[in-house]
Amino acid sequence: MHSYLKQYINGEWVESEGGTRHEVINPATEEPCTEIMLGSQADTDKAVAAAKAAFESFSQTSVEERIALLERIAEEYKKRIPDMAAVMADEMGCPIAIGNAAQGPAGLGHILKAAEALKEFEWEEKLGPARVVHEPIGVVAMITPWNWPMNQITAKVAPALAAGDTMVLKPSEETPGTGAIIAEIMDAAGVPAGVFNLVQGDGLGVGTALTKHKDVDMVSFTGSTRAGIMIAKNAADTVKRVHQELGGKTPNIILEGANIAEAVPNGLQGVIINSGQSCIAPTRMLVHESQYDEAVATAKGVMESVQVGNPTEMGAHIGPVVNAAQYEKIQGLIQKGIDEGGTVETGGTGRPDGVNQGFYVKPTVFSNITPDMTIAREEIFGPVVTVIKYKDDEEALRIANDTEYGLSACVYGPAEEAGKFTGKLRAGLIGVNNWGPVPDAPFGGYKQSGNGREMGKYGLREFMEVKSVIGEP
Ligand code: NAD
Repeated sequence: MHSYLKQYINGEWVESEGGTRHEVINPATEEPCTEIMLGSQADTDKAVAAAKAAFESFSQTSVEERIALLERIAEEYKKRIPDMAAVMADEMGCPIAIGNAAQGPAGLGHILKAAEALKEFEWEEKLGPARVVHEPIGVVAMITPWNWPMNQITAKVAPALAAGDTMVLKPSEETPGTGAIIAEIMDAAGVPAGVFNLVQGDGLGVGTALTKHKDVDMVSFTGSTRAGIMIAKNAADTVKRVHQELGGKTPNIILEGANIAEAVPNGLQGVIINSGQSCIAPTRMLVHESQYDEAVATAKGVMESVQVGNPTEMGAHIGPVVNAAQYEKIQGLIQKGIDEGGTVETGGTGRPDGVNQGFYVKPTVFSNITPDMTIAREEIFGPVVTVIKYKDDEEALRIANDTEYGLSACVYGPAEEAGKFTGKLRAGLIGVNNWGPVPDAPFGGYKQSGNGREMGKYGLREFMEVKSVIGEP
């Protein structure tokens, strides 16, 4: 059992004051794997006060000092990747191999890129008679999800440190171990006391307390659109900046004449990895009517070859989904897909054959899906793909954009043809024969997928204020 009963405040591990004990259930064994204290208002107040007090001196550190700090953090981070992989396997069912090869290293990329962006950042510019200066924003509250936990934590912590901000992190109550490891890394790297603070907790407790706190200058949130809306409302009374990285429903347009044998497996990678629990998972596969049957058969073959298995064992399998609630939500969506007229080509409801414990979902392919069906509109967050037919490019584009989300979109086919779509797709990340972000380029959503950008120099700028100085000699 992992035990993280203390909060990290002002450079020390301290007892929670009035917190509540909470257990995380291992989704493979359905047994408790981690115990934490869900923090209290008092814990939150202490952490915010520590961050506020530390801001005065940390915001004055030089760029060189902060680059050196990020480099030390990167060194400490590398040493802890196996620990992260182990705790993610227990808490969220992420296979150890993926933790070591993808989830862990993703966070390292953000730390290194933040240092690089800081080296090149233009802090000042002259605009007419004004001198325009970038400054750190102040105390940042960071509220993160469980699905790519190290990735999302570091995409906030690294640029905020680079900018000269101080912070309080509240990681997801589903994956508290990754947050605790980050605090240990900050401690080992010599981050000054109060600059980075960790309060474990849930959304309605610490999450809300941070959002409403008058001494928090910015909330940087990654999670569901539902929670993002609540956070924006709760933050409104104190007019703080709210940066939101929210849900998605990525369309994957496979252009007429594309090589189906290549395009379908490529697109499905993003639905399979992490058991489909990625905000940019391309779960809406749009295929020209002339190639529809071939694409469905190919997708069926690919998903039938996916093995599910114990996350602590090595191998190329996928693990369970994170918890009972997600499992039930996915089962409900699959059932709705069937009830609304979709055809299950493989997979469907229930656990995979031979599995009788754990929150394992059958890799599933749906055909005969129309864009108005619930399963084609709501985020699934499981290894489930819907294959949707289109007649021509215009219809493909219309279906792709017909969603309240706008996080990412993919187009597969000859680059020249695909290029005709990139300017018309209403999403923040477009993959051309490609899936997934790169740490240099900004990442964030259009529409109800969010309002900020993370990663690289755009990510760094989010954590800053801008000041105009006019009238200087
Ligand atoms: P969630 O919204 O349930 O929780 C995310 C975090 O917010 C958790 O730390 C939770 O405790 C906290 N929270 C929940 N309600 C809150 C409230 N009212 N006030 C303050 N904090 C609150 O999301 P999740 O289930 O952890 O993560 C999955 C979701 O995250 C999916 O919708 C996915 O698409 C999205 N996501 C988006 C991105 C992105 O970059 N756009 C990346 C990863 C995940």
